[in-house]
Amino acid sequence: MSDEERTLIAAELRERLAWLSGLTDVGVPRPVAGAAPPMASPEPVAPAPAARPAAPPPAAAPPRPGRASTEPAAPAPAPRRAPARSATPEWAVPAAAAEPCPVPATGEPEARLAALVDWIGDCRRCALAPTRTKIVYGQGNLHAEIMFVGEAPGADEDEQGLAFVGRAGQLLTDIIEKGLKVPRPEVFIANVIKCRPPGNRNPETAEILACQPFLEQQIEIVKPKVLIGLGKFAGQWLLKTAEPISRIRGRFGDYRGIPVMPTFHPAYLLRNPSAKKDVWEDLKLVLRHLGR
Ligand code: URA
Repeated sequence: MSDEERTLIAAELRERLAWLSGLTDVGVPRPVAGAAPPMASPEPVAPAPAARPAAPPPAAAPPRPGRASTEPAAPAPAPRRAPARSATPEWAVPAAAAEPCPVPATGEPEARLAALVDWIGDCRRCALAPTRTKIVYGQGNLHAEIMFVGEAPGADEDEQGLAFVGRAGQLLTDIIEKGLKVPRPEVFIANVIKCRPPGNRNPETAEILACQPFLEQQIEIVKPKVLIGLGKFAGQWLLKTAEPISRIRGRFGDYRGIPVMPTFHPAYLLRNPSAKKDVWEDLKLVLRHLGR
């Protein structure tokens, strides 16, 4: 083999490696690839997921223009640079095959919510369907000024079909009623995903992507004055960031023009009661924002 051929093969391999390292487990090119894993956070909201089998590599690297094997030798392409670093989570990209949304953009919130529930239907869009008992849509005042977003239903929620009804839910009730001084039915509460992950493992990218339009619609319908993101998944989903919750909590961010206050998840507070004071500080900022 000539030196020129060796150089060409090495360049080809480098190019393919660069392409492979830019693929996510949902099969779309990563918008970014940071050094830290997108979901990395010191806050262990749910037990760590069981180790997932490595995604099989694509059958073949996509053809590159002008790089067909029958092509006569050409000058070696410049090696590709690693993708730029950024703090965008891998699921903060539009779903590949988004369905048209049948929920009316205007009208009474009750009718729009009914259309949303209809749209969700007996959802089979992700791998959680076979193991869930009930879809947990979320509940509360459709005209709420304050909307909470949690992570995912747990066992109690899965059984009852209601968000935050277990131990973490009781603490959330205290946060709402003692901290914010409003009755719980006055706020709206939803989750990033609507079905329970088995064993309360963390939600996976494909599950978040599949459920994404439903939470987007709920926020559109309620149009709260402030969103409170509970824990890393909600905080990261709302702010489209991969920053850990410990770094994003305590200051307002923005979700489509609505102020977002990320704070610790009540399940985390159950294990780390000393963090309650931080949540209280975050709630004070919310109260001040609402002029209360
Ligand atoms: N944890 C959540 O994030 N959501 C629930 O509904 C219950 C527990």
